[in-house]
Amino acid sequence: MLYLTEPEQLGELLPNEPRYRTDQLRDWLYLTPVLSAQDMSNLPKPLRDHIEPDLWPFTVDIEQSADSGQTVKWLFRCTDGSPIESVLMGYANRTTLCISSQVGCAMGCTFCATGQFGFDRHLDAGEIVAQVTYANAYLAATPMPHSPERVTNIVFMGMGEPLANYAHTIESIRRMIDVMGMSARSITVSTVGFVPGMRKLINEPWPLNLAVSLHSTIPSERSKLVPINDRYPIDDVIDAAEAYYVAKGRRISLEWTLISGENDSDTEAVGLARIARKIKAHVNVIALNPTPLSTDRPPDHDHVRRFIGTLKREGANVTLRDTRGQDIDAACGQLRLRAQTRRPETDTKPNGAP
Ligand code: SAH
Ligand code: SF4
Repeated sequence: MLYLTEPEQLGELLPNEPRYRTDQLRDWLYLTPVLSAQDMSNLPKPLRDHIEPDLWPFTVDIEQSADSGQTVKWLFRCTDGSPIESVLMGYANRTTLCISSQVGCAMGCTFCATGQFGFDRHLDAGEIVAQVTYANAYLAATPMPHSPERVTNIVFMGMGEPLANYAHTIESIRRMIDVMGMSARSITVSTVGFVPGMRKLINEPWPLNLAVSLHSTIPSERSKLVPINDRYPIDDVIDAAEAYYVAKGRRISLEWTLISGENDSDTEAVGLARIARKIKAHVNVIALNPTPLSTDRPPDHDHVRRFIGTLKREGANVTLRDTRGQDIDAACGQLRLRAQTRRPETDTKPNGAP
């Protein structure tokens, strides 16, 4: 229950220990995490033994690495069996962790493996933040040679809609910033356009990055890909994004998963560029990572380039995001899908073996 207790309340779990032990334990959990309680070198052995079974709120079901160890993907299992996915990506000057905020997702986006599963439950703040500390413990034991040895950037782009799990998402972010010392500017909350959450986020004290998953500028088309558009229409989403930008001075990212024949037309590119210019947003385009439960496919390379070219010509700032870790199913919800459909003999193969 360690991460499921607020860091300030850890003393309640150790009623017979002196105060400084609680401080030591909090440091082990949040500042210098280790994979095993046995490595908490300044704690007495009986306490380490006591802590060990409850150290992580999950076990590791699958760990896979790709891109010469610069990408690592985990499928964790919570104590109730719920799966959580996280992906660690090492770059030259940053180490980014993509984390999950819910088990499944209720938003039902048609191209998303998580959406295809439906919603199971919210993650607790401790289950969210423990994905970050676990990655830090992993990096301490297995550093990536060409990247920072700690998680420097967080993106809420794993399973779930973080703003639909508002309180736990915010408490996890509070711990990352106040307890772990991370910078709000290095944390990105990605939302499908959950307007009430976007509006609430304006009132939080931190200059977080906000990414808004747009995917179409044509309301009827967007509703097909992103059904929540019926409840929170695109115009309200853009208004909320602009209000966030004005209040925080943080440039919004507009996320666009490019799907062949669905949202890859010149008309869409022109419409997207117009919105990006209006709210001074940055556009991130990613080619669809196909999911087994849908026939959607990404456009071919030339078509992707053409879409990007139109965006640029229309005055948008745009980045084509890489599909890091595609060979280990590093798209939203896909490792879980594999875990449910895998053949037993593939379970134990390391390093992304098929
Ligand atoms: N629910 C939030 C955050 C999690 S999804 C959101 O929708 O923003 C994170 C990003 O992954 C979103 O931009 C989403 O559109 C994208 N995504 C989901 N499935 C994908 C797929 N199969 N291929 C490429 N991108 C995908
Ligand atoms: Fe949920 Fe985001 Fe997937 Fe849509 S894209 S179903 S909001 S996780």
